[in-house]
Amino acid sequence: MVQVQTFVFNPFSENTYLLHDETGEAIIIDPGCYDRAEVNELAAYIEEHGLKPVQIVNTHAHIDHVLGVAALKRKYGIPFVLHKLDEPLLRAVKSYASNYGFSTFEEPEIDSFIREGETIEFGNTSLKILFVPGHAPGHVAFVNDADRFVIGGDVLFRMSIGRTDLPGGDHGTLLKSIREQMFTLPDDYTVYAGHMEPTNIGFEKRNNPFFK
Ligand SMILES: [Zn+2]
Ligand SMILES: [Zn+2]
Repeated sequence: MVQVQTFVFNPFSENTYLLHDETGEAIIIDPGCYDRAEVNELAAYIEEHGLKPVQIVNTHAHIDHVLGVAALKRKYGIPFVLHKLDEPLLRAVKSYASNYGFSTFEEPEIDSFIREGETIEFGNTSLKILFVPGHAPGHVAFVNDADRFVIGGDVLFRMSIGRTDLPGGDHGTLLKSIREQMFTLPDDYTVYAGHMEPTNIGFEKRNNPFFK
């Protein structure tokens, strides 16, 4: 059984997810923790529950999702993985970070690339990787069939979808990703999004204004 722990970090109110299972192994998805207090909040949870983080995995590389990567890589000595098509977005962050007030942003190294069709493994848990571009060119989502959820990043929100006005964004591509990837998941799958509260696939198929 996977426990999905949500932390809301940085001024963008970004959802950072810590997934752990009965083995105590954990992965950190989209760490947006910026200052020491936020990094400590995540670390305190990890320590309290006796967890062993094994990997940092990102849905995409916008600034609000990568602010904590370098600090956590250093703290836990764990690899950071990303889809190759989002590497340019990661490399661009340092050029605009100070415009958003993140003057001390540290660019993390990528340890390996992940690809659609592969899986992310930790403990007894396996996550399937879906390729869902549109909000970002190398955006991926992580599906867990055993516990029926998807970590969707900034693709599909409750009653909304990700913005596509940033570099590398494309509205038509995003709609296609949602229709052909997210909406082929079963209706009862919970969607943990990059911002705001969780939703589920069936609710969005019926109610999301972009798909009516
Ligand atoms: Zn984003
Ligand atoms: Zn975001």
